[in-house]
Amino acid sequence: MKLQLKSLALFAMLFICSNVIMAQKNFTTKVIAHRGAWKAQHLPENSLASLRHAGEIGCYGSEFDIHITKDDIIVVNHDNEYYGLTIATSTYQELLAKKHSNGESIPTLEEYLKEGMKHKKTRLVCEIKTSTGGKERTKKLVEMTVAIVKKAKARKQVDYITFDLEGGKLLAKLAPKNEVAYLTGDLTPAEAKAAGFNGIDYHYNVYVKNPGWIEEAKKLGLSVNVWTVNTEDIMQKFIQQKVDFITTNEPELLFSELKATL
Ligand code: MG
Repeated sequence: MKLQLKSLALFAMLFICSNVIMAQKNFTTKVIAHRGAWKAQHLPENSLASLRHAGEIGCYGSEFDIHITKDDIIVVNHDNEYYGLTIATSTYQELLAKKHSNGESIPTLEEYLKEGMKHKKTRLVCEIKTSTGGKERTKKLVEMTVAIVKKAKARKQVDYITFDLEGGKLLAKLAPKNEVAYLTGDLTPAEAKAAGFNGIDYHYNVYVKNPGWIEEAKKLGLSVNVWTVNTEDIMQKFIQQKVDFITTNEPELLFSELKATL
Protein backbone atom coordinates (compact mmCIF):
# COMPACT_ATOMS: atom_id res chain seq x y z
CA MET A 1 0.00 0.00 0.00
CA LYS A 2 2.81 2.35 1.03
CA LEU A 3 4.66 1.54 -2.18
CA GLN A 4 1.53 2.20 -4.23
CA LEU A 5 1.08 5.61 -2.59
CA LYS A 6 4.72 6.46 -3.22
CA SER A 7 4.40 5.45 -6.88
CA LEU A 8 1.23 7.50 -7.20
CA ALA A 9 2.90 10.56 -5.65
CA LEU A 10 5.91 10.14 -7.94
CA PHE A 11 3.66 9.80 -10.99
CA ALA A 12 1.70 12.94 -9.98
CA MET A 13 4.92 14.88 -9.50
CA LEU A 14 6.30 13.78 -12.87
CA PHE A 15 3.00 14.67 -14.54
CA ILE A 16 3.01 18.19 -13.02
CA CYS A 17 6.69 18.76 -13.91
CA SER A 18 6.35 17.55 -17.50
CA ASN A 19 3.15 19.56 -17.90
CA VAL A 20 4.91 22.78 -16.85
CA ILE A 21 7.98 22.11 -18.98
CA MET A 22 5.97 21.05 -22.07
CA ALA A 23 3.63 24.00 -21.75
CA GLN A 24 6.48 26.47 -21.28
CA LYS A 25 8.07 25.29 -24.53
CA ASN A 26 4.94 26.11 -26.49
CA PHE A 27 4.42 29.61 -25.20
CA THR A 28 5.52 32.58 -27.30
CA THR A 29 5.74 34.65 -24.13
CA LYS A 30 8.11 33.36 -21.46
CA VAL A 31 7.71 33.61 -17.69
CA ILE A 32 10.29 35.53 -15.66
CA ALA A 33 9.89 35.30 -11.88
CA HIS A 34 10.49 38.75 -10.37
CA ARG A 35 13.03 38.47 -7.50
CA GLY A 36 12.54 34.68 -7.71
CA ALA A 37 9.28 32.78 -7.21
CA TRP A 38 8.64 33.93 -3.64
CA LYS A 39 5.08 35.14 -3.24
CA ALA A 40 2.91 32.02 -3.36
CA GLN A 41 5.32 30.15 -1.07
CA HIS A 42 5.89 33.07 1.33
CA LEU A 43 9.64 32.97 0.69
CA PRO A 44 11.93 36.01 1.07
CA GLU A 45 12.41 37.93 -2.19
CA ASN A 46 15.84 37.49 -3.77
CA SER A 47 16.60 34.49 -1.54
CA LEU A 48 18.24 31.28 -2.74
CA ALA A 49 14.95 29.54 -1.85
CA SER A 50 12.98 31.82 -4.20
CA LEU A 51 15.45 31.14 -7.01
CA ARG A 52 15.23 27.39 -6.36
CA HIS A 53 11.44 27.53 -6.50
CA ALA A 54 11.49 29.47 -9.79
CA GLY A 55 13.56 26.60 -11.22
CA GLU A 56 11.26 23.96 -9.74
CA ILE A 57 8.09 25.39 -11.31
CA GLY A 58 9.75 25.74 -14.73
CA CYS A 59 10.18 29.50 -15.04
CA TYR A 60 12.09 30.51 -18.16
CA GLY A 61 13.99 33.05 -16.07
CA SER A 62 14.43 34.22 -12.50
CA GLU A 63 15.24 37.88 -11.93
CA PHE A 64 17.41 39.14 -9.04
CA ASP A 65 19.01 42.43 -7.97
CA ILE A 66 22.63 43.06 -7.04
CA HIS A 67 24.56 45.69 -5.06
CA ILE A 68 28.17 46.18 -4.01
CA THR A 69 29.16 46.43 -0.34
CA LYS A 70 31.69 48.85 1.12
CA ASP A 71 34.31 46.07 1.02
CA ASP A 72 33.61 45.04 -2.61
CA ILE A 73 31.39 42.02 -2.09
CA ILE A 74 28.46 41.69 -4.49
CA VAL A 75 25.24 40.73 -2.74
CA VAL A 76 21.68 39.94 -3.84
CA ASN A 77 18.94 42.23 -2.49
CA HIS A 78 16.35 44.57 -3.97
CA ASP A 79 16.58 47.73 -1.87
CA ASN A 80 19.68 49.79 -1.10
CA GLU A 81 19.03 48.82 2.53
CA TYR A 82 19.05 45.31 3.96
CA TYR A 83 17.07 45.09 7.22
CA GLY A 84 18.08 48.66 8.18
CA LEU A 85 21.70 48.48 6.97
CA THR A 86 22.75 50.50 3.92
CA ILE A 87 24.57 48.04 1.67
CA ALA A 88 26.93 50.59 0.04
CA THR A 89 28.26 51.71 3.43
CA SER A 90 28.24 48.32 5.18
CA THR A 91 30.76 45.50 5.06
CA TYR A 92 29.63 42.03 4.04
CA GLN A 93 30.39 40.87 7.58
CA GLU A 94 28.03 43.51 8.98
CA LEU A 95 25.25 42.36 6.64
CA LEU A 96 25.68 38.78 7.88
CA ALA A 97 24.33 39.88 11.28
CA LYS A 98 20.82 40.02 9.76
CA LYS A 99 18.94 36.99 8.44
CA HIS A 100 16.00 36.49 6.10
CA SER A 101 12.80 35.07 7.61
CA ASN A 102 13.71 31.57 6.36
CA GLY A 103 17.09 31.69 8.12
CA GLU A 104 19.15 32.45 4.99
CA SER A 105 21.88 35.08 5.03
CA ILE A 106 22.06 37.65 2.26
CA PRO A 107 23.35 35.70 -0.76
CA THR A 108 26.56 36.71 -2.51
CA LEU A 109 26.52 36.79 -6.32
CA GLU A 110 28.74 33.69 -6.34
CA GLU A 111 26.30 31.79 -4.10
CA TYR A 112 23.38 32.87 -6.26
CA LEU A 113 25.04 31.77 -9.49
CA LYS A 114 26.00 28.43 -7.91
CA GLU A 115 22.36 27.73 -6.97
CA GLY A 116 21.11 29.01 -10.33
CA MET A 117 23.43 26.73 -12.26
CA LYS A 118 21.66 23.75 -10.65
CA HIS A 119 18.57 24.85 -12.63
CA LYS A 120 20.01 24.90 -16.14
CA LYS A 121 16.66 25.54 -17.84
CA THR A 122 16.07 28.76 -15.88
CA ARG A 123 17.89 31.86 -17.06
CA LEU A 124 19.47 34.08 -14.44
CA VAL A 125 18.25 37.61 -15.07
CA CYS A 126 20.69 39.82 -13.21
CA GLU A 127 19.60 43.40 -12.47
CA ILE A 128 22.57 45.66 -11.78
CA LYS A 129 21.49 48.42 -9.41
CA THR A 130 22.87 51.96 -9.46
CA SER A 131 25.13 52.25 -6.41
CA THR A 132 24.27 54.91 -3.82
CA GLY A 133 28.06 55.22 -3.50
CA GLY A 134 28.27 57.04 -6.86
CA LYS A 135 29.23 56.40 -10.49
CA GLU A 136 32.61 54.82 -9.72
CA ARG A 137 30.99 52.26 -7.43
CA THR A 138 28.39 51.36 -10.09
CA LYS A 139 31.24 50.95 -12.60
CA LYS A 140 33.07 48.70 -10.13
CA LEU A 141 29.87 46.67 -9.64
CA VAL A 142 29.52 46.15 -13.40
CA GLU A 143 33.18 45.18 -13.89
CA MET A 144 33.22 42.78 -10.94
CA THR A 145 29.90 41.19 -11.96
CA VAL A 146 31.09 40.36 -15.48
CA ALA A 147 34.31 38.88 -14.04
CA ILE A 148 32.47 36.80 -11.41
CA VAL A 149 29.97 35.45 -13.96
CA LYS A 150 32.87 34.47 -16.23
CA LYS A 151 34.79 32.81 -13.40
CA ALA A 152 31.68 30.86 -12.35
CA LYS A 153 31.27 29.68 -15.99
CA ALA A 154 27.71 31.02 -15.87
CA ARG A 155 27.95 33.40 -18.82
CA LYS A 156 25.64 31.43 -21.12
CA GLN A 157 22.90 31.29 -18.49
CA VAL A 158 22.97 34.99 -17.51
CA ASP A 159 21.08 37.95 -18.97
CA TYR A 160 21.58 41.50 -17.68
CA ILE A 161 19.07 44.28 -17.06
CA THR A 162 19.61 47.74 -15.60
CA PHE A 163 18.06 51.18 -15.08
CA ASP A 164 21.55 52.66 -15.19
CA LEU A 165 22.27 53.99 -18.71
CA GLU A 166 26.04 54.37 -18.21
CA GLY A 167 26.25 51.00 -16.46
CA GLY A 168 24.27 49.41 -19.28
CA LYS A 169 26.56 50.83 -21.95
CA LEU A 170 29.57 49.51 -20.06
CA LEU A 171 27.90 46.10 -19.67
CA ALA A 172 27.23 45.92 -23.41
CA LYS A 173 30.95 46.54 -23.99
CA LEU A 174 32.26 44.13 -21.34
CA ALA A 175 29.74 41.35 -22.01
CA PRO A 176 29.05 41.56 -25.75
CA LYS A 177 27.76 37.97 -25.94
CA ASN A 178 25.14 38.50 -23.22
CA GLU A 179 21.67 39.96 -23.51
CA VAL A 180 21.63 43.43 -21.93
CA ALA A 181 18.21 45.09 -21.60
CA TYR A 182 17.33 48.60 -20.50
CA LEU A 183 14.69 49.18 -17.81
CA THR A 184 14.06 52.91 -17.50
CA GLY A 185 11.64 53.38 -20.38
CA ASP A 186 12.94 56.80 -21.45
CA LEU A 187 14.60 55.59 -24.67
CA THR A 188 12.78 54.66 -27.86
CA PRO A 189 13.63 51.17 -29.13
CA ALA A 190 15.93 52.73 -31.75
CA GLU A 191 17.71 54.80 -29.09
CA ALA A 192 18.09 51.75 -26.84
CA LYS A 193 19.62 49.80 -29.72
CA ALA A 194 21.98 52.66 -30.56
CA ALA A 195 23.12 52.72 -26.89
CA GLY A 196 24.16 49.06 -27.24
CA PHE A 197 21.20 47.27 -25.64
CA ASN A 198 19.79 44.01 -27.10
CA GLY A 199 16.41 44.42 -25.46
CA ILE A 200 13.92 46.76 -23.83
CA ASP A 201 12.41 45.78 -20.50
CA TYR A 202 9.91 48.49 -19.62
CA HIS A 203 7.07 49.02 -17.17
CA TYR A 204 3.75 48.11 -18.78
CA ASN A 205 2.56 51.73 -18.66
CA VAL A 206 5.44 52.72 -20.99
CA TYR A 207 4.05 50.36 -23.66
CA VAL A 208 0.53 51.64 -23.03
CA LYS A 209 1.72 55.22 -23.62
CA ASN A 210 3.83 54.23 -26.66
CA PRO A 211 1.72 51.63 -28.47
CA GLY A 212 4.13 51.28 -31.41
CA TRP A 213 7.20 50.40 -29.36
CA ILE A 214 6.66 46.64 -29.14
CA GLU A 215 6.48 46.25 -32.92
CA GLU A 216 9.32 48.74 -33.43
CA ALA A 217 11.56 46.84 -31.02
CA LYS A 218 10.80 43.51 -32.72
CA LYS A 219 11.64 44.98 -36.13
CA LEU A 220 14.97 46.18 -34.74
CA GLY A 221 15.71 42.70 -33.39
CA LEU A 222 15.40 43.76 -29.74
CA SER A 223 13.82 41.46 -27.17
CA VAL A 224 10.74 42.83 -25.40
CA ASN A 225 10.15 42.28 -21.69
CA VAL A 226 7.44 43.91 -19.58
CA TRP A 227 7.44 44.41 -15.79
CA THR A 228 5.92 43.88 -13.25
CA VAL A 229 2.66 42.29 -14.37
CA ASN A 230 0.67 40.66 -11.59
CA THR A 231 -2.95 40.65 -12.77
CA GLU A 232 -4.79 38.49 -15.31
CA ASP A 233 -6.07 41.38 -17.44
CA ILE A 234 -2.65 42.97 -17.98
CA MET A 235 -1.04 39.54 -18.49
CA GLN A 236 -3.56 38.80 -21.26
CA LYS A 237 -3.02 42.22 -22.85
CA PHE A 238 0.72 41.51 -23.28
CA ILE A 239 0.31 37.81 -24.15
CA GLN A 240 -1.90 38.97 -27.06
CA GLN A 241 0.86 41.37 -28.16
CA LYS A 242 3.32 38.46 -28.14
CA VAL A 243 5.98 40.11 -26.01
CA ASP A 244 8.99 37.84 -25.46
CA PHE A 245 8.90 37.94 -21.66
CA ILE A 246 6.60 38.95 -18.83
CA THR A 247 8.21 39.60 -15.47
CA THR A 248 5.85 38.85 -12.59
CA ASN A 249 5.49 38.29 -8.86
CA GLU A 250 2.83 35.70 -9.78
CA PRO A 251 4.54 33.14 -12.07
CA GLU A 252 2.00 30.43 -11.20
CA LEU A 253 -0.85 32.72 -12.31
CA LEU A 254 0.99 33.64 -15.51
CA PHE A 255 1.48 29.94 -16.34
CA SER A 256 -2.25 29.35 -15.99
CA GLU A 257 -3.06 32.41 -18.13
CA LEU A 258 -0.66 31.18 -20.82
CA LYS A 259 -2.16 27.69 -20.72
CA ALA A 260 -5.61 29.21 -21.21
CA THR A 261 -4.42 30.70 -24.52
CA LEU A 262 -3.27 27.35 -26.00
MG1 MG B 1 14.78 44.06 -10.10
